[in-house]
Amino acid sequence: MSGKGRARGVIVAIDGPAGAGKSTLSKRVAEALGYTLVDTGALYRAVALWARRRGIAWDDGPALGALTSELRFAFVDGSLEVDGERPGDALRTSDASLGASRVSVHPEVRAALLGVQRDMGREGGVVLEGRDIGTVVYPDAEVKIFLVASDEERAKRRLAELLARGEDASLEGVLEDIRARDRRDEERTVAPLRMAEDAVRVDTTGRTLDALVEELVGHVTRRAAG
Ligand code: C5P
Repeated sequence: MSGKGRARGVIVAIDGPAGAGKSTLSKRVAEALGYTLVDTGALYRAVALWARRRGIAWDDGPALGALTSELRFAFVDGSLEVDGERPGDALRTSDASLGASRVSVHPEVRAALLGVQRDMGREGGVVLEGRDIGTVVYPDAEVKIFLVASDEERAKRRLAELLARGEDASLEGVLEDIRARDRRDEERTVAPLRMAEDAVRVDTTGRTLDALVEELVGHVTRRAAG
């Protein structure tokens, strides 16, 4: 109990490439600490889906920026709501992954989501997971973790997730997709994916979820206590 009490108020930034284990691990760490979880990838995924609905192309930065500023985002019990609607699993399809990766290169979209993400973390006691949390959204976060894993392991995890949901996918196809997403994330001019200088790099390859949760919670409670 005392660990939970002491840790309240801290901002935890968990960044890293696709499939490094961010979603599962962030969720478990937030639960263990009694923190709020903000899955910032879901915001970019939602922008891609709403753009498709409204007939806005994923390469039209200004129109995407205007759309993003109009939408109202909230996490309710850990699930994203957009204008009061819960997109749920529609956010996790391969199409939404591709769309998120494409819309997230536009400075207009990133600028509009910056305020949204900062509002969501304002109270502290929050785990934010994404690509640029420790570098751009919360450069002053008390705890910064940068997760990595081998390409093969990342592709296997993503494949298992897609197959479990009944999508048709192959290991080669998934590997190609995540490498293309990595490239777009790393090469974009605004807020590219990179490790903050003061982040702790954690390689999740071959490690159990329980051991990783323990390590990350340890980082948070040490920072919160000191
Ligand atoms: O983490 P997730 O796979 O849901 O993210 C989907 C896409 O959204 C990423 O490939 C990345 O292009 C983009 N993203 C981003 N910045 C974040 C979170 C996600 O650019 N903070």
